[in-house]
Amino acid sequence: IRGYATVTKEEDKVATFKGSKGSDGKFTVSLIEGDGIGPEIAQSVKDIYSAADVPIMWEPIDVTPTLKEGRTVIPDESIASIKKNFIALKGPLATPVGKGHVSLNLTLRRTFNLFANVRPCKSIAGYKTPYDNVDTVLIRENTEGEYSGIEHVVVDGVVQSIKLITREASERVLRYAFQYAQDIGKNKVRVVHKATIMKMSDGLFLSTARDVAKDFPNIEFDAELLDNACLRITTDPAPYADKVLVMPNLYGDILSDMCAGLIGGLGLTPSGNIGDECSIFEAVHGSAPDIAGKALANPTALLLSSIMMLRHMGLNKEAERVESAIFKTLAEGKALTGDLGGKAKTHEYAQAIIDNL
Ligand code: NAD
Repeated sequence: IRGYATVTKEEDKVATFKGSKGSDGKFTVSLIEGDGIGPEIAQSVKDIYSAADVPIMWEPIDVTPTLKEGRTVIPDESIASIKKNFIALKGPLATPVGKGHVSLNLTLRRTFNLFANVRPCKSIAGYKTPYDNVDTVLIRENTEGEYSGIEHVVVDGVVQSIKLITREASERVLRYAFQYAQDIGKNKVRVVHKATIMKMSDGLFLSTARDVAKDFPNIEFDAELLDNACLRITTDPAPYADKVLVMPNLYGDILSDMCAGLIGGLGLTPSGNIGDECSIFEAVHGSAPDIAGKALANPTALLLSSIMMLRHMGLNKEAERVESAIFKTLAEGKALTGDLGGKAKTHEYAQAIIDNL
C-alpha cells in the first residue's frame, strides 16, 4: 500500500493540507465511526494507535443526517470539525436503497469537494489468493459522472439519470493522478473509459487527459476500454503494477471492488478521498449489516486507510510501524478474521497487531 504524497506546486491547483497540529505535537483528526461494523473496526484503530503512541487525538463526530429546508444535511458542528482539522477518518455509512435520505457519503464528498478517490490494492504477503502480484492504484473521479444525483421521471415508467462530465472536474482529477503517479514513482498513467459508446461524456474525459498529459512529459500516458481492463486485470494483473489508473466515477467504483476481490476481498482495501483542503480516509467496504455487532469484522481496510492518512499527514515513521505490524500479523495467519478464513474476533486480531508493533 502506498501513501499519498502531498502535491505542493502552486500551479497544480491541488495543494492540500496535512492536518492540524497542536502545540503538544499531536494532530487532531475528526473520527466518524459510522454504521454497522463501523464502531467495532474504529475501536481497533483507536486501540492500535494508542498502543503505538501515534500522535493523534480523535475528535468523534456525528453525521446523523438532519433535514434542513427539505435537504439532507450533516450537522454543522461535524462540518466545522472536519474544516478545522482538515483530516477525517471515516467508518462506513449505510445508505437506504431507492428512497430515504441521500447518501451521506456523497454528501460528504460534495460538501468538502473531495474530487479524487485514491484506491490502492496490493496483494498481502502470506494471504493466499489466485494472484500474489496485484499492485494496482485506481484514482476515481469522485464528484460527478453517474453519481451527479440528477435523476427525474420523464413519464410514468420512464426515468432519466444524467451522467455529468465537466472539463473542470475531469482536469482536476487527471492532474492529480499524473502528479500522484510521479510522486509514488509509478511513471505511467492510464485512463479507463468507454468513449467508444459514450462519445461525448467519456470522450471529454479522454480528450482532457490527453491535454493534461502534455504537462507531464515524464509520465507515459495511454488509455484502455473499461471492458478490456476488467478482462485483462483478472487474467494477468502484472502489467498494471507500474501504472496509475484514472477513470470516471462509476467505473472506478466497480473496478476497484474487482481489484479488491483479487487480493482477498473488501476487508482489505483502503481509500482516501482527497480535496483541495480537507481529505477523508475510509475503507472501500460498507457497513456490513450481516455481521455487525458480532465482532466478526475485519478492521484491516480501515486500518490501511488510516495508514494512507498518516502518510498524507507526513507521519511516515508511524505509518511504517503500524503497517509492518498489520502485514506481519496477516502473514503469520494465526489471528485472521472470518472473511480471511480465520477464527479470530475483531479485537483478537487487533491485539495480535499490537503484539507485533
Ligand atoms: P458491504 O461492503 O457492507 O458488505 C459486502 C459483504 O462484504 C458483506 O458480506 C459483508 O459482511 C462483507 N464485508 C464488508 N466489509 C467487511 C469487513 N470489514 N470485514 C468482513 N467482512 C466484510 O456492502 P453492502 O452490504 O452492499 O452495503 C451495506 C451498506 O453499506 C449499504 O447501506 C451501503 O450503502 C453502505 N456502503 C457504504 C459505503 C461507505 O460508507 N463508503 C461503501 C459501500 C457501501
